[in-house]
Amino acid sequence: MELQELTRQIREFRDERDWKQYHHPKDLAMALSIEAAEVLEIFRFKSPTQIDAELPTLKARLGPELADCLFFILLMAHDCGIDMKSALESKMQENARKYPVELCRGKNLKYTEL
Ligand SMILES: [Mg+2]
Repeated sequence: MELQELTRQIREFRDERDWKQYHHPKDLAMALSIEAAEVLEIFRFKSPTQIDAELPTLKARLGPELADCLFFILLMAHDCGIDMKSALESKMQENARKYPVELCRGKNLKYTEL
């Protein structure tokens, strides 16, 4: 499904419930941050080894939380007049410029440290 169609469905869900009145960009940013914290909560106090072993089970919780994040990303982007496909494409171009393969392959350094 395209991002535009997902956004349309999310807006329809919101509009049917008359929730736009609660969705100032500030509220959407807060909601996104809260949902991102719910992603973190899934991994809290688990070692990387535990997470690797439990991932097939954790996916059942992770998927819905990532979906919650995407829900608010798409809604906020829509309300702020941001085309997420273009924004992501621009960001990927910027990342490619900051992290040229020949300088960063196999390294975990920030671009300022390359
Ligand atoms: Mg959630």
